[in-house]
Amino acid sequence: MKILLVYPKYPDTFWSFKYALKFISKKAAYPPLGLITVASLLPADWETRLIDMNIEKLLVEDILWADYVFISAMSTQIQSANHVIDRCKAFLKPVVAGGPLFTADFEKFDRVDYLILNEAEITLPPFLHDLEKGNPKHLYSTNQFANVERSPVPDYTLVKMNRYSSKCIQFSRGCPFNCEFCDITAMLGHKCRIKTTGQIIHELQNLYDLNWRGEVFFVDDNFIGNKNILKIDLLPALQSWMKEHGQPFHFTTEASINLADDPELMKMMVGAGFLSVFIGIETPEEDSLEECNKVQNKNRNLIDSIKTVQRAGMEVLGGFIIGFDSDTPNIFRQQIDFIQKSGIISAMIGLLNAPTKSNLYKRLQAEGRILERWGGDNTSNAMNFVPKMDRMVLEKGYREVIHGVYGGKAFYERVKSFLIDFHPGVQNKNKVDLLRLVAFFKSVFIIGIFDNNRKYYWQLLFWSLFHRRDLFQMAITYSIYGYHYKKSYAKIF
Ligand code: SF4
Repeated sequence: MKILLVYPKYPDTFWSFKYALKFISKKAAYPPLGLITVASLLPADWETRLIDMNIEKLLVEDILWADYVFISAMSTQIQSANHVIDRCKAFLKPVVAGGPLFTADFEKFDRVDYLILNEAEITLPPFLHDLEKGNPKHLYSTNQFANVERSPVPDYTLVKMNRYSSKCIQFSRGCPFNCEFCDITAMLGHKCRIKTTGQIIHELQNLYDLNWRGEVFFVDDNFIGNKNILKIDLLPALQSWMKEHGQPFHFTTEASINLADDPELMKMMVGAGFLSVFIGIETPEEDSLEECNKVQNKNRNLIDSIKTVQRAGMEVLGGFIIGFDSDTPNIFRQQIDFIQKSGIISAMIGLLNAPTKSNLYKRLQAEGRILERWGGDNTSNAMNFVPKMDRMVLEKGYREVIHGVYGGKAFYERVKSFLIDFHPGVQNKNKVDLLRLVAFFKSVFIIGIFDNNRKYYWQLLFWSLFHRRDLFQMAITYSIYGYHYKKSYAKIF
């Protein structure tokens, strides 16, 4: 049996990192971890090929080669996913689809031959069994959650390793919280299901043996969902393994803000090699936090919490949302001031949207406010429901926030204010390699000569040379991020 695994293209958004990746000559940030995990669940004697359309084209001969085309996608990839399905149907190739897009909105994909929903560890084996017997069903789903201790090692041999800037790995699925706008818990549950430490070390060793060095992203919904296991088991083992192997990786992940309440955990994460963490901050407005049930962010000084994580040696990337029912037109200025003060350089700011499986969707549907399914990009100016605030006021305010945070002067001031006090707990081992040197010269050419923020770029570089020479490389990286964010948002406005 010949199986073609296809990962559709991301649109050009904030999340694609398209404008930043060209500085380091990479095509995409992360390989498709879900599809290569599915590849490992297939019978060993089946032939598999992976086409990630973010790094290469899907050719007619690829489709003709396959007996079945397996496709997985997130909501934001819907347009490309539909196009792939149409192409496969034109060549009469059976399509097997799974992953978040199809699980959330399977009713919209009747023309897909086989829908393998929820977690593939549960739904793929019965499909394979029925396929072998010659009577596969159209849809396989479950309300159970998979035991991830039985999840196989993702098949990284299918991945063109050098085309990506990072690699990914997953330790846990699920999140103990219940934010109203989030669909993670509906799809993956409130209980954090974790892999064993042995599995994680095995997966890291696999990446190491494939000669990967550099960033590894733990794609967990909330990495600190089970703090005890992290402290007594995974993090000590990670630290030892990293030491034995000469610190080949640095890690990044996603966590909730209560990370800031646990100095021991932060110290252990830094000791194990964590360099940055994405945290959903959402809003500085208490009423909006209450409205969306972001309990972990309430009744705390959020700026202090962010600074605590930064002082521990990890950069904080933050998610921010505008458009809650409780928001007033003051929110725009509040968000700008908060982000500038926080020193969060990568602030992913979006208008509120309601994913189909979220509690927010249920509430808004009951209130008759849903307009359409969510397109999956939370950094565009689209909203899939009728907001309480006037739509025009929201759009104008959103634009003001983007300009207030990513306008050249504001952005570079924020980078400088962050770098002044930042002491990374992990030294990036891939010091000045050829790739970084090329990125530096490209940044001089693209930003330092032709970009209208060139004045701030040179000011930052000279400031860094004289005051924080140890962070010079980070100053270049952040200038490149700033360029990417500016270009991505320019597409929207
Ligand atoms: S903490 Fe994050 S993953 Fe957990 S429910 Fe809230 S938004 Fe979703």
